[in-house]
Amino acid sequence: MSSNPYAWLETSLDTIRKANWYRSVNPIEGKAGAIVETKGDRLVNFASNNYLGLAGDNRLIQAAQTATEAYGTGSTGSRLLTGHLPLHRELEQMIAALKSTEDALVFSSGYLANLGAITALVGQRDLILGDEYNHSSLKQGAKLSQAQTIEYTHNCVEELEDHLRGERHKYRRCLISTDAIFSMDGDICQLPQLIALAEAYDAMLLLDEAHATGVMGKNGAGCVEYFNCTKKPLIQVGTLSKALGSLGGYVAGSRMLIDFLRNRASTWIYTTGLSPADTGAALAGVKISQSEPERRTALWQNVAYLRSKLQEYPLKLLPSQSPIICLSCSKPQQALDLAAKLRQGGILAPAIRPPTVPSSRVRLSVMATHTREHLERLLKYLYH
Ligand SMILES: *Cc1c(COP(=O)(O)O)cnc(C)c1O
Repeated sequence: MSSNPYAWLETSLDTIRKANWYRSVNPIEGKAGAIVETKGDRLVNFASNNYLGLAGDNRLIQAAQTATEAYGTGSTGSRLLTGHLPLHRELEQMIAALKSTEDALVFSSGYLANLGAITALVGQRDLILGDEYNHSSLKQGAKLSQAQTIEYTHNCVEELEDHLRGERHKYRRCLISTDAIFSMDGDICQLPQLIALAEAYDAMLLLDEAHATGVMGKNGAGCVEYFNCTKKPLIQVGTLSKALGSLGGYVAGSRMLIDFLRNRASTWIYTTGLSPADTGAALAGVKISQSEPERRTALWQNVAYLRSKLQEYPLKLLPSQSPIICLSCSKPQQALDLAAKLRQGGILAPAIRPPTVPSSRVRLSVMATHTREHLERLLKYLYH
């Protein structure tokens, strides 16, 4: 018998290194923005989810400070006990108004919102049909729920319908789950078709708007707004940590849905309420996202410019309808080499590799606050 029950860790890490799958962290200095400092270098940032540039905005910082001074640093308990602040409720009402839903519930992260919603809504007697490219939180939520789970081929509504036709009747409840914007590819789900299938087969539909909130639709309400599908009976999940510049997650939907989640979502009940600072900053983020639509205009202008300039690029672009633009690479090493070359040119853009994604790529995420000069720098070193 082995005398060291942890010896397998080293073997496992070696295997990860050999496959070129090894990851490590990089400290980022200074305030979040289009330029970041790391290890003494100033880099143009194409790696963040800070699409509207709000994470470094002084008004969000001020709102976090004001909330901290009013309520302290921690919310001290579950929302059902001492952790419920008037600020939480204000934020939930603000999110519900943005999403045109009856109500919303704020969780401590988007990840927890998905885990909590899925495990509350389905169980052993139920069926989950999820896109194969769904975010980790949707997949882990499905596992935790113990529902029978089938992954359908990415964005293939025909295959989804086959599963519904063949399997739906064997189960009590059915939940279809999908990212709105797929986080590692940047393409979007076919929402109108998904809604039609959910209606036809008596299924619930959970839409994860993490990358779409603040980005898609005239008011930044997400793919639901973009596709003109507001007021449909949906479970809309999202995060306050991407375009909205703070931290936290939410579920938006009918009054009944939210009331049910307050009673049954264990990742909401058995965890501490979102901190006053995060809640205050998120409130300011939602407000500014709506009052300054010019941020979205700038974002989409940058996306269009970059995409037009990348038409001639030797690497194929993955299909995308969002600010996430991926340069497809044949091998993990090619993605690592390209990311390293960009890094030398003062550009931060990550290589994304298996097992996170099926194929390697360099992933660029565009911000509203990128200047033309930032974009030109990227293009210069890509074509270098
Ligand atoms: C980022 C992300 C999440 C998690 O949100 P956090 O608030 O960062 O926990 C969930 N779903 C998708 C699709 C995401 O991209």
